[in-house]
Amino acid sequence: MGGIRLRAHHLLCIHGFRGQGYSPLFVANMARLVDRLGASPETPVRIVSGADDVCSACPHMSDGMCNRPDQSVDEIDLRVRAALGFDEDHTGSWSSILDTIRDRIDPFRLEDVCSGCRWLDLDYCTTGLTELADLSATDD
Ligand code: SF4
Repeated sequence: MGGIRLRAHHLLCIHGFRGQGYSPLFVANMARLVDRLGASPETPVRIVSGADDVCSACPHMSDGMCNRPDQSVDEIDLRVRAALGFDEDHTGSWSSILDTIRDRIDPFRLEDVCSGCRWLDLDYCTTGLTELADLSATDD
């Protein structure tokens, strides 16, 4: 089975997924990706610019571009990628990417990287990323 392609901001969104999304197909695809990464942390993940394996099932994607209004996804991608220190096309195991997220992203300052995202105020991502940090503390 091949790896997964994710745009940078989706590396964080995955932790905030609570079964909600833009359509039933979107939700089913996202749930499948989240389950797969959870079950196989060594899955290779490539960071891509533009549409990825989440966008591929999204009703806002057309002609390979995100057409969701009022959402600056490319800017959020750039901010998240810079915060994580990943080059364009960085590829690593999901577990290594989780380590970098734990090291570099403060769940309580997500507005630094995610401002402009309509999901931010729901706090799903803050909660999910806090749980990720707590898991790491338990592992130590
Ligand atoms: S809203 Fe845009 S960035 Fe988000 S999943 Fe849909 S196409 Fe991708």
